[in-house]
Amino acid sequence: MNLVERFLKYVSFDTQSDELTRLTPSTPGQMVFAEYLKSELESLGLEDITLDENGYLFATLPANTDKEVPVIGFIAHMDTSPDMSGKNVTPRIVEKYDGSDIVLCTEENIVLSPAQFPELLDHKGEDLIVTNGKTLLGADDKAGIAEIVSAVVYLQEHPEIKHGKIRIGFNPDEEIGEGAHKFDVQKFGCEWAYTMDGGEVGELEFENFNAAAAKIIFKGRNVHPGYAKHKMINSIRIANQFITMLPRHETPEHTSGYEGFYHLIGIQGDVEQSTVSYIIRDHDRNKFEDRKKEIEHLVNKINAEFGKGTATLELRDQYYNMREKIEPVMHIIDTAFAAMEAVGVKPNVKPIRGGTDGAQLSFKGLPCPNIFAGGLNFHGRYEFVPIQNMEKAMKVIVKIAELVASK
Ligand SMILES: [Zn+2]
Repeated sequence: MNLVERFLKYVSFDTQSDELTRLTPSTPGQMVFAEYLKSELESLGLEDITLDENGYLFATLPANTDKEVPVIGFIAHMDTSPDMSGKNVTPRIVEKYDGSDIVLCTEENIVLSPAQFPELLDHKGEDLIVTNGKTLLGADDKAGIAEIVSAVVYLQEHPEIKHGKIRIGFNPDEEIGEGAHKFDVQKFGCEWAYTMDGGEVGELEFENFNAAAAKIIFKGRNVHPGYAKHKMINSIRIANQFITMLPRHETPEHTSGYEGFYHLIGIQGDVEQSTVSYIIRDHDRNKFEDRKKEIEHLVNKINAEFGKGTATLELRDQYYNMREKIEPVMHIIDTAFAAMEAVGVKPNVKPIRGGTDGAQLSFKGLPCPNIFAGGLNFHGRYEFVPIQNMEKAMKVIVKIAELVASK
């Protein structure tokens, strides 16, 4: 099987994850896929192949040099997004894309058009794998898996390329934020690794948000409105006051790049009690801490005005920016950079406005930046992947292996 055949086979497995089941893997289809991959890795003659009860599949491509070379790993996730069905994925290859609209589904008139997705035009002349408009594609992250497996096969077929021990890891449930939780970093046994889970060619990510969640509960006092003067305390109005005290433009819809925000994600309430929920995000750790302090400060202000105990705050950190774990080992970024340039890919470093499995792995002791897997429009029916993007990602993996051994 070649890279494309492998990818097309992988997307035939329904591996949609589901955050409600509270199981690992969250859905049985992921284990079915893991078993399939395990047998494929066995047939390729890889070593130390393990699939644990949580669906984490690890394997080793042994070194082909006697030189001391650091053990490195490549990681991709097996699940697809809960946002859209990944069942009966029916991919189609649009050869030598000419820049026009691509009709994904005639009967429902679903069209992948450069008018909405101008990035399509960056791939004129390439071969695009698209959906039939009814499901997502699953390039996130089966492109990553296909690239890693194909890179391993390439290295096996090219013994003249010297490399150290390479570990590969495929995990479940990345899309529900659980991919790193049960990842056994010790057992994986790498000095560092790369997740192949980014989008467009060249993407290289080692900075993500610091993240916290805040819930503020406002207590009121309900009294018949006809007799409420100086007695009623309306918690909804206090909650509203609190919301307007936060800076109006530090929200997701007004920020980009390295700008952080407070994001109001929920509000519920009646006169007696109201609850507002926020997520707090910032790449800069100091600014992140300041944002949390600001929330505390405003809660105190509300209590000063309306009485102690009116507002109570529950604040918890969710994850941190991996940059602080990558900075001491910047050579792993330099290597990825050099590998991309060596295969004709222009590296594009950008901060992730979210989290990644790699961030959690970095804090578990496995520094783990993220490299492009090549797909675009993730998590929906307009998802597509240029075959040339996947080929480039595969070459980057091979080149990284080569560069690490040449140092
Ligand atoms: Zn992904």
